[in-house]
Amino acid sequence: MIAEVIAVGTELLLGQTVNTNAARIGSGLADAGLEHHYSTVVGDELGRMVDAIRLALERADVIVITGGIGPTQDDITREAICGATGRSMVFSEEYADRLRRWWASRGREMPDSNLKQAEYPDGAQLLDNPKGTAPVVFLEHEGVLIFALPGVPAELEALLDLHVMPMLRQRSGEGLVLSRVIRTYGESESQVGEMLADVYDKSGNPSMAFLATAAEIKIRLTAHAATAEEAEELIAPFESAIRERMGSLVFGADDQTIESIVLGLAEQKGWTIATAESATGGMVASRITSVPGASRVFRGSVVAYDERVKRVNLGVSADLIEAHGVVSEPVAIAMAEGVAHFLEADVGIAVTGSAGPDPQDKAVGTMVIAVRTPEKAMARTVRLPGDRERVRTYTTTGALQLARLAMSGVWWSGEPKHGRWV
Ligand code: ATP
Repeated sequence: MIAEVIAVGTELLLGQTVNTNAARIGSGLADAGLEHHYSTVVGDELGRMVDAIRLALERADVIVITGGIGPTQDDITREAICGATGRSMVFSEEYADRLRRWWASRGREMPDSNLKQAEYPDGAQLLDNPKGTAPVVFLEHEGVLIFALPGVPAELEALLDLHVMPMLRQRSGEGLVLSRVIRTYGESESQVGEMLADVYDKSGNPSMAFLATAAEIKIRLTAHAATAEEAEELIAPFESAIRERMGSLVFGADDQTIESIVLGLAEQKGWTIATAESATGGMVASRITSVPGASRVFRGSVVAYDERVKRVNLGVSADLIEAHGVVSEPVAIAMAEGVAHFLEADVGIAVTGSAGPDPQDKAVGTMVIAVRTPEKAMARTVRLPGDRERVRTYTTTGALQLARLAMSGVWWSGEPKHGRWV
């Protein structure tokens, strides 16, 4: 079965609302084993909505529409379905009564405009919405299943799970789509593509895609199979080939983040962590503490922004700063050692740098990251392009990446075969 998604709303076209519903529906369709070829966004304009639905009727077996089924004048998805299917609009007395009772149970009188929600294209069914007043409109038209769902994301999610997915799973009987995302750091998207060119050439089922997000390159494998076990079997040889080729540039899979890996490593080793941050002002600590359970290994952070904090709280000597400058590897290592000592942690992660727009000791974009573990301490200087926020964000991810490599001992044994650690 081939599905198509239509998200209705001028606010989506204007960029005022992010189309998260399409992502949620897309992952639901994949779980139910449906192919999904097109996802459209259309504004609240009847003619264009009718066109979008007509086009979907020609090329899909299932159409999932989100938005435009509320009670206001601009909610015209029902009218558009009538227009595209040539059906007339009818009225459900039973649903109107249900709406009146819903309002009465909240001690309020229902505005007449809400009766619009009891209208539906002839032949459709209204499926109950336990989270709101707009029901799901479900119509089977010339063999194509049309679902129209509310735009409010919480309602959409609940109704997908309650009505749409069970019906689609039952009808499709076509197995499922399983994805594995392999997450890498340290190489550019084009280089990852080149490194994996022959693996890519062999792909098909699973299909392979490269996704770049803020210094991280993800490789997504998507398999179509009758069962989850079969899909895993299809993915396994590709996943091993990618992991083998990319080595330590791979830091995790699926929902794993670098910070969750760092915390996992600390637990495994029985180590605690502290951070000393100048230019990133606590961003590394913020990423670490975003992981539930961080308190088991994370001691805390010193935002050592001012030179006095570096000296007084972290014990970095004035002579060292004088000799090398505040943005330097010896100072970063002294900060990492200092915070580990000050907060009684095993691992110290330190950042100092010149994030811009005005240079601080070194050229803008010069960032120094140091990590100390009970085994060793090392620092790395990186030169990052972009504005202050970009430099700080990339440095934060770089610091977590180096912490991962230091804690697993990989950093101490040299550079990777391909690419660089940060
Ligand atoms: P309502 O009963 O609230 O009128 P509706 O079906 O008419 O529901 P809309 O009015 O289009 O839906 O949108 C309701 C809310 O849901 C708005 O805040 C809108 O920004 C949000 N929303 C609509 N479509 C999407 C979407 N595709 N992704 C995420 N949010 C959405």
